[in-house]
Amino acid sequence: MSRVRPFDTFQYQNWRSVHRQYDLYFQTRDLYREFREALDYWCPVCLDLTPFRNFRKLREHVNKTHDLHYCDICVENLKLFPSEFKAYTRPKLLTHRREGDPDDLSYKEHPLCHFCDERYLDKDTLHMHLRKQHFWCHFCESDGKQDFYSDMRSLHSHFKTDHYLCEEGDCYNDTLTSAFRNEIDLKAHRASTHSRGLSKAAVKKMRQLPMDFFVHAFPEDDFPTGPGKRTASTRGGGGGGGSHPRATRPDLRR
Ligand SMILES: [Zn+2]
Ligand SMILES: [Zn+2]
Ligand SMILES: [Zn+2]
Ligand SMILES: [Zn+2]
Ligand SMILES: [Zn+2]
Repeated sequence: MSRVRPFDTFQYQNWRSVHRQYDLYFQTRDLYREFREALDYWCPVCLDLTPFRNFRKLREHVNKTHDLHYCDICVENLKLFPSEFKAYTRPKLLTHRREGDPDDLSYKEHPLCHFCDERYLDKDTLHMHLRKQHFWCHFCESDGKQDFYSDMRSLHSHFKTDHYLCEEGDCYNDTLTSAFRNEIDLKAHRASTHSRGLSKAAVKKMRQLPMDFFVHAFPEDDFPTGPGKRTASTRGGGGGGGSHPRATRPDLRR
């Protein structure tokens, strides 16, 4: 006889073992009891003890009586029954956090944010943290590099050493939108944004580029983008697509 039955053949509304909080119905008292036991806070060592009222009480007992410790990161992030969380000795907890559990290969480690010295559940959670709390360079990201910078100041120095940064006027305080991938973009930006009050000759000079720019051909895909401010890096999930729109040769004589 098949043990699989269609859901609507169950008259579960009449069943008397109900867990109201989760709106769960149990066909027998035994099933209900097993479920209740899975939700209870049992000490993993003293099996004859009655369960604790909550996880905090269980943790206190396990710490004090057995010098065993739960992993905060797992407890906060994983949806498990209380009895499924492992209690570790101190050295084993360290190994669990840094390398993972030798007897559970599905789980690796809780990776570390080197800026905050905090560990996160897994690589995805760490990545989300880095994108939210730290900074990255959008130019490098579109080139396939995934480096992060602890704060705006270190991103600023990265722009200064590896890219082109405008520090004139308002741009000085606006690192995110005043960085440019190449010198042509930077010059075009300076000429269009910071030329007010200058003579025509001075503006013309600002737009001029060394001749060898035109001599060395750019590879098709690396052709410089047009003038104007471009957001170079983002923070907090904005992200930007990382594509660099193909542009025509900037008209620097205007
Ligand atoms: Zn105990
Ligand atoms: Zn853990
Ligand atoms: Zn961090
Ligand atoms: Zn970069
Ligand atoms: Zn500027």
